[in-house]
Formats: sequence, structure tokens, C-alpha cells
Amino acid sequence: MGRPGKKLGPHAWFKDMSNPVTDLIHHAYAPPAGFEAPQPGVFKASTIFFNSVADMRGRYRSIMDNDSYTYGLRGTPTTYLLEERLCALEGGERCLLVPSGLAAIGLVSLALLKSGDEVLFPDNVYGPSKSLAEGVLKDWGITHQYYDPMDPQDLEAQISSRTKLVWLEAAGSVTLEFPDLLALVRICKQRKVLTALDNTWGAGLAFKPFDLVPDASPALGVDISTHALTKYPSGGGDVLMGSVMVRDRALHKLLKLTHLRLGLGVGMNDVEAILRSLPSIALRYRAHDEATRALALWADTQPEFVQVLHPSLPGSPGHKHWKELCVNGFGGAAGLVSVILDERFTQEQTDAFCDALKLFRLGYSWGGPISLVVPYDLTDMRTVWPTYLEKGTLVRFSIGLEDVLDLQQDIDQALRVLR
Ligand SMILES: *Cc1c(COP(=O)(O)O)cnc(C)c1O
Repeated sequence: MGRPGKKLGPHAWFKDMSNPVTDLIHHAYAPPAGFEAPQPGVFKASTIFFNSVADMRGRYRSIMDNDSYTYGLRGTPTTYLLEERLCALEGGERCLLVPSGLAAIGLVSLALLKSGDEVLFPDNVYGPSKSLAEGVLKDWGITHQYYDPMDPQDLEAQISSRTKLVWLEAAGSVTLEFPDLLALVRICKQRKVLTALDNTWGAGLAFKPFDLVPDASPALGVDISTHALTKYPSGGGDVLMGSVMVRDRALHKLLKLTHLRLGLGVGMNDVEAILRSLPSIALRYRAHDEATRALALWADTQPEFVQVLHPSLPGSPGHKHWKELCVNGFGGAAGLVSVILDERFTQEQTDAFCDALKLFRLGYSWGGPISLVVPYDLTDMRTVWPTYLEKGTLVRFSIGLEDVLDLQQDIDQALRVLR
């Protein structure tokens, strides 16, 4: 069976063919017109067809604007849709999806830094960020330093002519101190250094990272916001994904080129899961937040805990900055709370306390329905022990969506192993 000599439109020439296998593969499918439903259709493709070679060449030129399709790895209607919705939530212009929150952090560094450059991290930064700097960037001749997130002057002093990127995090994901984000951003702007905020905690809800000062003109905010969509945007504890968002087109282009070169694709089923969870993100965030504040207040009255770290507590480091930035906006404080146990308890006792919890499961990550707990050894994680932290072992709770009194009772019964 030979192909017809003359060129025909798709589906025209196989009508006379007898092999149903071919018929099946070339079945003329068009998405149903007039089928509007709450959830968008999911489009999967590696290959995307072109109508002509001219069409093929033309589409490559316009890829930066998310208005054409060339290959699945370079974007589909499904990835563009999630990117647009994330931008709508946070106030960004362009967004890129990557396979994890950590990949988002990696993409920013790989796109913007080269040998000889230096990158600065807050000393309380998400741990694997340090590992990336120490294990990968260093080997490529990119140096890094850690600054005290609670001391803008320390950041200022560390910026040199080699500093090309400053990472920010608010709040710190284990110790939950809230920096003076505006002061840190102002310093970087003055020194013409790019800022990237890991905004997983804020989720685009607690504050608006591209507009730290409401209605300022020109806008005053970070250059880049990254997220672990794994956390609140997913909300299920079952999806890994990250995003990198910007307002500046030129910066987006730089990031997108590296994104394409590294082949950082995401699975459409995962994108679909996030699209399905996103409409309830504000409700879930508020529920996690309210339960966490109630638990933080109660934990603060327990004698075994010498310090409770949660930005809404007046005694928590950076409470004032949190209030200035977040209470004006959505007012949220996410679902994390950490406690420092009295120095008299050994690490073994702290571990036994964690093991005695029943509703709180031992596990990493947060943002899902199930409450989680992790004991952390801060001495391994910080270059210095900050003066604003009490001495002792640290336990971080991620508050899920269970009844808050049940969670309180669970901590209370586990504390008995220490009494
Ligand atoms: C979880 C997390 C990440 C990494 O996200 P993954 O999807 O697990 O790679 C990055 N930053 C912060 C603050 C996080 O909590």
C-alpha cells in the first residue's frame, strides 16, 4: 500500500484504506465544541504538528510569548494555563513550571550565574539550597556567602562587585523568623543586584512579592519569585512541582532559554492536579493558618517549650516585619510552627517526643491534609546560632487540616514522655 502521489489534507487519503489499525491511529478527533466545564481539558504531547515548514520556522520565533506550540517540552495549553493562573494569583507576568521546588531554585542559579560570580543566601535558607551551592555551584566556580536574614546591614556589607544574585526567604522554613523584606530588597536594588525570593511559605497569598509597597510607582518588589507548588498549590502531599515567576520580559527570556536547554519538563497529570487544587488554595491556606495560630498560642504556655517560633507571636523573631507586610495584605502566616525544647532535654528525649505523636506523622514537606513533624538539629544547619534563638533542640510542626483540638491533645499526650 503506497502513499498517494499528490499531497492531500490530513485524513483525506486514508479513507480508502482497509487497515483499521491505521484508521484508529488517524482517527479524526477534534475537541468538542461548546464543551465548557469547571476543569480545563488536559493536553498531552511530545510531538506537536506543523502545517508547513514555514509554519514550523515561524512558531519557533514566537515561543517566548506563550502564544504558540512547538514541542511538548516547550509548553502546552495545559502548562500555559497553570502558568497564567499562578501569575494571576501572585501578580507576576511570566512563569515557568519545573519538576520540583528545588528545581526552581536550581534553574534560577543556572540561568543567572556564571564562573566568578557570587550568590548570597540567608543563613536560614531552605537546606537543600545550601547543598546546591556547596555541592554544585562551587565546583563551577560560583562562590556563595550566607548573610544574617535579620540584619540588613550584614547583607549590605556582603554585597561585592561579584554578587549577582541575592536569595530571600520569608519566613525561614525551619526557624520561621520574618526578615525586613523591604529593607533587604531596597539594598539589592540600590546595589543593582537581582533578588530571588523563595515564596513557598507565602504561597502568593500572605503578601505580594512584586508589590511590597502597595500602589508604589514604579513597583517595589523582588525580581524573581520561586515556589514549591508541592506545598499549598498542590495541597495533597502527592505532587512534586515548582515554578519561577518574574515581571520582566528580558529576565523571563533568560530563564526560559535555560529552562529549554535543561529540558525541565513537567507531567500533564501533575499540572492537572495543581489546576484542580488551585481554586481552594486560599480557603486551605486560611484553615492551616488559623489552626496553626491557635496551636502556637497554646504551645507558648507549655513549660517544656522555651520558645515557640511563629511570626504571629509577638515574641517570635521578625514579628514586627511580618505584621507590617502581611497584616495589611491577606494577613496569612501559613501552617508551620516550630518549638525549641528546653536545653535539659537531650536529642534522644526530643526524638522520643516526636515518636510518641500519633496524629502528627514523621515526614518532610507541608501543605497537605495530614499534620507532619520533623526534629531538626540546628547546629548542623546554621553557620552561627542566632542570638534571638533560645538554646535547645528544635521540632517543626506542619499543621494539616485535622481538628485543631485533636492536634493539641496529640502534642499534649506526647509531652508526657518528657514529664
Ligand atoms: C519544599 C520546599 C522547597 C522544595 O520543594 P520540592 O518540590 O520538595 O523540591 C523549596 N523551598 C521551600 C521553602 C520549601 O519548603
